[in-house]
Amino acid sequence: MDLSDLYADVIMDHHRNPRNFGSLAEKDKEVHLTNSSCGDEIYLEVKLEGGRISKIAFRGMGCAISVASASLMTELVSGATLERAKELSEEFFGMVRDGKESSKDLGDARVFEGVSKYPMRVKCATLAWHALEKVIE
Ligand code: ZN
Repeated sequence: MDLSDLYADVIMDHHRNPRNFGSLAEKDKEVHLTNSSCGDEIYLEVKLEGGRISKIAFRGMGCAISVASASLMTELVSGATLERAKELSEEFFGMVRDGKESSKDLGDARVFEGVSKYPMRVKCATLAWHALEKVIE
């Protein structure tokens, strides 16, 4: 997989039209993280209900990979239990950081599989997931 493949259609789609972008009227947790090596920034907000992520939203500025990854992450964990969100997070980190084979559970987020070969890009792709882990803690 070469670098141009990282900008697959799905990434560009989520970058141009990020899902769950904005703020929540009511939230239980908010996390702010930055990736200084690229200039990416994310604010992640969640509303919890009965141990589930009932609502999730993010905002911030960043490169296509960081925004698309945040958008895909919020879609994956929306409605999930915290336990399930943690599992998905571990799978995502395993895929992009350790180069492990991805599972179908990650859905479209599997487009980031090739990122593991590019350490700088790994930071972009994992920023939103680091934010999620802080929310789960
Ligand atoms: Zn970036």
